[in-house]
Parts: sequence; structure tokens; C-alpha cells
Amino acid sequence: MAQQTADIPLHDLLVQLKELPSLAHYSLTLYRRRNGAVASCHQFETCSTIVEDPLCRDVSRQFFEENMDVFFEEGTPSVCRYGGGFLGFLIPFGVGGDDCCLVGDGVRDESIDLWQLAALSRTEGGGDAFSLLPYVESLHTARYEEVEEVAQEVGRAVEQYRFPTASPPVLQNAAVPCESVTDQRLQAVSQALERIDRCTSVTACVAIGCETIATEFEVPRIAVALPDAEGKSYPVTGVWGMPDEIGVVPAEALHLFLAPAKGGKAVPCDVKMRAALPGLNSAMCAFFPLKSQGERLGFLALPESDIPQNSALLINMLTGAMAAKMSWIVRDAERSKENALSERLMSLTDTLLQIDSKEQLYEAIMKIASDLIEATQGSIMLIDKDGEGMHIVFTLGMTLNIARCLQLKVGKGIAGMVAKTGQPLLVNDVEKDSRVAMANRLRFKSKSLICLPLKLKDKVIGVLNLSDKKNLRPFTNADLQLLTSFANLASLMIERTEVLEESERFEQLSVTDALTGLYNRRFLKSRLEEELNRSTRHSLNLTIIFIDLDFFKSYNDLCGHLAGDEALKITADIIKESLREMDIVARYGGEEFCAVLPGTSKSEALIVAERIRTEIENKRFPGESDIPLRRLTASLGVASFPEDGRTFHDLVHASDVALYEAKARGRNRTVAARSSVSQQEKSVDVEPRQAVSPLAKTLDFNAYLEASLQSKA
Ligand code: GH3
Ligand code: MG
Ligand code: MG
Repeated sequence: MAQQTADIPLHDLLVQLKELPSLAHYSLTLYRRRNGAVASCHQFETCSTIVEDPLCRDVSRQFFEENMDVFFEEGTPSVCRYGGGFLGFLIPFGVGGDDCCLVGDGVRDESIDLWQLAALSRTEGGGDAFSLLPYVESLHTARYEEVEEVAQEVGRAVEQYRFPTASPPVLQNAAVPCESVTDQRLQAVSQALERIDRCTSVTACVAIGCETIATEFEVPRIAVALPDAEGKSYPVTGVWGMPDEIGVVPAEALHLFLAPAKGGKAVPCDVKMRAALPGLNSAMCAFFPLKSQGERLGFLALPESDIPQNSALLINMLTGAMAAKMSWIVRDAERSKENALSERLMSLTDTLLQIDSKEQLYEAIMKIASDLIEATQGSIMLIDKDGEGMHIVFTLGMTLNIARCLQLKVGKGIAGMVAKTGQPLLVNDVEKDSRVAMANRLRFKSKSLICLPLKLKDKVIGVLNLSDKKNLRPFTNADLQLLTSFANLASLMIERTEVLEESERFEQLSVTDALTGLYNRRFLKSRLEEELNRSTRHSLNLTIIFIDLDFFKSYNDLCGHLAGDEALKITADIIKESLREMDIVARYGGEEFCAVLPGTSKSEALIVAERIRTEIENKRFPGESDIPLRRLTASLGVASFPEDGRTFHDLVHASDVALYEAKARGRNRTVAARSSVSQQEKSVDVEPRQAVSPLAKTLDFNAYLEASLQSKA
């Protein structure tokens, strides 16, 4: 800005005009064009300004400066509507041989043109029409005709004004913000807005906002109130020129500090405000709200600062941007926390799915739960089948045996109440919480606890108790939420393991094998023991036959598992058919069967065994021709009571040894056990009518297979 001592001072004109009541809401700017100066792109230069509203001033400057020559040539006051509904006037006049223009702006038409505003926001390169809207709305409104009247009045006042011949340079008036200061602030604020937009933490957001306010607006002290983790209160921290901890405003008192927060004017701190925040220690204070889309995030307190309206507008822009960004950061953090939690829960699900014993599951649940919220004591209680009692199934930090002795009832005590209501309980202090109100037991170091129902849909199956946080501080709502998500998963896993164990128990109770319909091994054992007792009592014979299919693995491999199952069923039928009603036959293992023939001697049983072997040998099994030996056969071992053994174990062992021998001697044969009672007796070996192949008499099936393939080639 050019200003020479010889220039006629024009600023006084603005000061005097500004005293006109009709100009109270206008910003005024004077332009001068030096006659004889070489015309530049801007022939008119700003030489003095009184700014009411910097942003509005900025918009109008673009509009008027572009067309100033034209307006000047008209020679009379002009009134214009521009931008998104702004109104302004221009008055041309001459002084000391120079051409001058006075521009007044800062008010708006009642109706705002959103389309123009949108276009304007684009050309200005900042924000969008909607973010400009609240600002434009806050401007003083006037009708076009009113502005015309004001322009006429100002035109007359300028005509009548007596210009002094000399005065100090206009920009040295420190009391009024001159254009350069306003420009500088605007620039600083717009830079700060950009930096705030790039912030990734609330702390950085606060730091940038407050630093800009303190340095650009010469504010000596700033405090900021932000919600605590649970949003229940607003701790106030000194950010600039104040102590770190000023106090905590309870949520219900927040409105006291938001209500007077308009316009940046310092308001007296009344009794209620002092009671809610004694640490502020200030008679007067300006407040700026931190609000974003109706969400109250806190406020900025500027003790003893009275902020002029135009600065307040810029500070409001800053606090608005800070609040919007802080709200975004908090929401973003919540989102990533939720994502991290679901990932963690997924991996926990995997871990828990690996476990199928209840004890291990309880242990894993307790470990995960206590790790999640850093608890050092805890227990898992399950509701009894009758729905009335509860029992402890796992403990952390106390002995399970002691815990097991506790008599727990649904509806009684803390856990009992949680089991009854299905509502979780977070207690900060067991002695003070009216829901609990009990003396803290000695074994607990902290008085805070969390008690969560373990639920399947709406049915409560138990309770998860956790206490004594590692740092001995109370548990938080965040802890409760974290644990709730996990408790749902834990309940599902407990249910799953119960079902698994139930089905295992069910299996234990069953006596038959599902595939063949024969008795199972467990039943066989008890029946054989009964029969042995009877045989002992009545001095009767008893013989058992073990039957094992030969090379059944390769049959399975070559013909498929389904054919294998079918072969097992056929074999079972053959064995059953070959026996009497009173005989017992069981599937002993995979392709091993065992028949118990009460009152039967070894020699009698050998005949039966041979019948079974030949039946199997002659039976056409599905896909049999695909196996190397072209038929499925069985080996059998026979052992008798009392000569081969008197107990279940001894008899099974004796027949197993005989069976092994049958395998070793070429398979598809029956071998009787060598009597352990009379060692001199030789084992009875019943040769098959048709030897399979001399090669099959080897135990090394692979070598046999190779040889048989070679012989076919
Ligand atoms: P060996 O002549 O020495 O008895 O040989 P093997 O192949 O019969 O003996 P091994 O014990 O190695 O294999 C038994 C095979 O029986 C293993 C498995 O493939 C099959 N098996 C066991 N249970 C079942 C079942 O329930 N269904 C079917 N399809 N196959 C079974
Ligand atoms: Mg076998
Ligand atoms: Mg076998």
C-alpha cells in the first residue's frame, strides 16, 4: 500500500463515517487512483479500511475491484448484489486531484442464493457452499432499497466532508485492526484450518487451534474442556498460559459454558459457573463451543479476553473445524477399535474351537477374559440344571476347591442377581454402590468388579466374574463392552462343549455299533465277563473267535470307503448267520470282529470259525475283483476258556496271538491258540481249502503286491 506524507489522510473520513448508525454493520474501504500514475492492472489501490467482517470484505473486494473503473465512470453511488446474496455500495469521489472510491459491504440480502454461493465457494477455493452457509446467515440483513438509502446518505456525507491537508499515516492507528493485520489473521486461520484437517490426533488438533488463537489474536490464556473416555464429564486442561489441570465440568453443567459462548464477548463467570469449575478462577471469560453436527464436544475458555466480533468469527471458524475433526478422529478410532476387536474375537474363536474338553475351555475363557481387561481374579459360575443353584467351574486367583464349597443361589448375592436379571454389573466401589453395598472381602485388593451374564440368546447359563484390575483402578465401561462381546462367544463355546460331551456320554451308553448293528466292544467286554463267570460257576466251556479282514486297507484304498463300509456290513451278516442265537458277536475295532460262543469247546468252535472263513472267502464283495488277490478274505484266531485263559483280558490276548499267527502264516486261515494251560498241546491250524497264493503268506504286503503285479505283466 503506497502512503506518502504528502498524501491527504483519508482514514479519518472512514472513522467519522463509521459513526453513522446506518453504517454500524458495514465494513468500509477506501480506494485511491493516483492521476498521472501509469495504469496497472489495479488502477485503484486500497488506502484505508475499517473491517467489520473479514470474509465478507474479501468477497466484496474481488467483486468491486474488478469493476471499479466502470463504477467510478458512472459518477454516482452504485448498489450491488453479488456472491451468494451479499449487498454493498460504491461511492465515487475526488480529492486533491486523485480519484477515490468508498466501498461499503458486510450485509446480505434476506434470501441467500445457494447456487451463487456454491459458485463463489468454488472460486474462493475453500470449503463448500454448505459450510459457508452458517457464516453468510450470521451476517446482518438488509433490503436492496435500504442499502440504496444508506449509499445516498454516505454520498452526501462524503460530499460535505472537509479533508484535512495532512495527518499521520492511516495505518498507524493501532486501536482499529488495519487491513494487513486482518489479512494476516485470515491467512493464519486458513493455514491452521488446513493443518487441522490433516491432524490425526485430538491433541494435535487442540494444539494447532489454540496456538493459532493465542498467537494471531493475542490471547494470553486458553483452557480447553473435552469429554472423558466415557463422556460423563469434561476435564478442563490449560493449553496456553494456564495450569495443566483446571477442574472437571460434569456433563449436566456443560450447558452453562456453551450458552454464553456466542460472539466472543467476555461474560461474567456467575455463581453456577464458578461452582462447576472453580479452577477457572476468572471474573470474566470468553467461551467458544466445540460442537460438531449437534454433538457437544466441549468448549474453549479464554479468561479475561474480550474478542472483537470479526476476530470471534475467525475463532469460531477454527473451533468449528477443530470440533469436526476431533469428532471424526474419535469416530475413526472407535471404528478401528471395533475392527481390531472383531479380528481378535475371530482368532479367539479359532483358539476356542480347538478345545473340546470342558476344563480346558473354562481355563481358556478365564485366561482370555482376564487378559482382555487386565483382571487378576475371577471365576466362572454355571447355573445348575434345576435353574436354582449355581456352581463354580473355574477360578483365577483363588483355589477351586474352596470355591466349589460355596453355596450359590440364582437371585442371591451379586453373581446370583446377575444370573437372575441377565443384566451385566460394573461396580466401581462395592462398599459405596447402592446396588451392592457390602464390605469388601479381604482377599480382594480393589473394590471394583465386573459381573457378566453368560447368555445363549435370552437364556442365562452362568456368570463370569472378574475383579482386581492389575493397576488396581476401577473397571471402565470400555472394559465392560469388551468383555460383553467376548462373553457371548464364551457362552456359545461352553454350550458347544456341553453338546459334544453329551453326545460322547450318549455314545458311551449305547451298546451297538452304528455301521454293522453288532454289539460294540464295550458291551462285548461286560457280556464276556458275565459269561466267563457263568462258565466258571457251571464248569462250562467257552470259546471266542477273533475275525480280521485281510488287507482291508488296500480294499478300502482301491474300492473306496463306501465299498469298505458295505464289506464290513456283509461280513457282520455272515458272522451272525454262522452263529447260534445264544452266541454274542461284536465289532471289536475297525475291521475286527469278535464272537463269543458260550458252552462251546475249541474243536467245536473251530468248525464254526472255518465256516465263517469260507463264507467270507466265497462271498462276492463289491469291487473285489479290483484288489490284487481278486477276493476279500479273513484271518481268524480262536481261544477257549479255561485252557487259553480265564479272564476277558487273557482270552482276548490268546485269540489275538492266534490271529497274528494266522496273518503271519499267509492269511485266509484259522489258527487256534496254543493252550497256556497244557503247553504240550500244539496250536490247531486249520488250513484253508484253497491256498490264496504262496506269495500272500508274507507279512510284507507291499513286496507281495509288487510281485503279483509283475507276474501279471
Ligand atoms: P491285515 O491283513 O494285516 O489285517 O491288513 P489290513 O489292511 O486289513 O489291516 P490294517 O489294520 O492296517 O487296516 C485296517 C483298515 O481297515 C484300515 C482302515 O482303512 C479300514 N477300516 C477300519 N474301520 C473302517 C470302517 O469303519 N470303514 C471302512 N470302510 N474301513 C475301515
Ligand atoms: Mg485289523
Ligand atoms: Mg485286517
